[in-house]
Amino acid sequence: MLNKKSVDDIQAAGKRVLVRCDFNVPLKDGKITDENRLVAALPTIKKLIADGAKVILCSHLGKPKGEPKPELSLAPVAARLTELLGQEVKFAADAEVVGANAKAAVEAMKDGDVVLLENTRYRKEETKNGEEFSKDLASLCDIFVNDAFGTAHRAHCSNVGVSSLVDTAVVGYLMQKEIDFLGNAVENPERPFVAILGGAKVADKLSVINNLLEKCDTLIIGGGMAYTFLKAKGYEVGESLVDDEKIDYCKEMMEKAEKLGKKLLLPVDSTIVAAFPSPIDAEIDVESVPSNAIPADKMGLDIGPKTAELFASEVKSAKTVVWNGPMGVFENPILAKGTIAVAKSLAETDATTIIGGGDSAAAVNTLGFGDKMSHISTGGGASLEFLEGKELPGVAAANDK
Ligand code: AMP
Repeated sequence: MLNKKSVDDIQAAGKRVLVRCDFNVPLKDGKITDENRLVAALPTIKKLIADGAKVILCSHLGKPKGEPKPELSLAPVAARLTELLGQEVKFAADAEVVGANAKAAVEAMKDGDVVLLENTRYRKEETKNGEEFSKDLASLCDIFVNDAFGTAHRAHCSNVGVSSLVDTAVVGYLMQKEIDFLGNAVENPERPFVAILGGAKVADKLSVINNLLEKCDTLIIGGGMAYTFLKAKGYEVGESLVDDEKIDYCKEMMEKAEKLGKKLLLPVDSTIVAAFPSPIDAEIDVESVPSNAIPADKMGLDIGPKTAELFASEVKSAKTVVWNGPMGVFENPILAKGTIAVAKSLAETDATTIIGGGDSAAAVNTLGFGDKMSHISTGGGASLEFLEGKELPGVAAANDK
């Protein structure tokens, strides 16, 4: 288990505490369209305010590629955080992020005040973990807190570089929760442990499949990636998404599952269409057929109803469930049934349920099942790398207990 120092292990009163948050929220016409990430950051911020720290927040937003882009300014985040916290979050507008304006704003802080810096990716050193910007950030604070799980799989100035230049670098509550849930699920799960993987391509999840197969009791594979497995079994999969270069890999994984005595479940039936919907939410005709009877001119775009039942019954008998990736082209309501069925089965179980970010997290929240899950990861890429068993640089950089 990762044993990192957290905000509970520091004396923050009167100190300048720089907190790396994940405020990479979707914006439309300057308005935040999903504020889950802001809400998720509040416990750490509130704790530091209550401790009497000078709380300096920073984050990236989108990809400004190393220069100021007004449409990617964090100003709307400061305004919304002010409302959520019920106290002013002063926005330090500054093209250099840590320039004269930001320094003056920090200088003027009183204990319990909150300042938000401008988008860290306005600086081109940020994504290269360059020394100058890391030094600038470190010069603003006495203590560094990393609460941005979403970027923990990257070594950037605002999470890794700055950590090495301050005496005290710890994790925030959100990061701690991610480490506890994902780490426990993979390393010390209550069994049976069922892992469900979906999404488009096998190639994106090779190491996840391999690692989870070793850790779980049952590995369920749905979504587009299932068809490469089905083809590897010798089935006709028609026009379904197949990665021919990964057929041998799928065979290897199926052999590995057998050798380890693990259950590897694939769709037993598929919802098929004549052509990929265009636009993606177009009305389409679908039918469901057994997985070994997909006509050569059709493609599978969702798991079928029998598969949905099979996967749901496996979830029912599990004590820990980790899910990453939709079961079909869920952007189309007609092809979202499999994903909804799996989400529902997770919502109904008493097992520990962990959603690994990205599309599955969005699906669960949109369906209104968000509060029924034990944990919804705030990091798509980061949670996948965690499930691969990799060490995340953003986590590794924090002080050990
Ligand atoms: P990922 O980013 O790998 O999690 O994949 C998510 C995408 O996979 C979504 O946009 C889905 O539309 C797509 N997807 C899921 N099932 C299929 C399928 N059977 N065929 C093609 N694309 C799929």
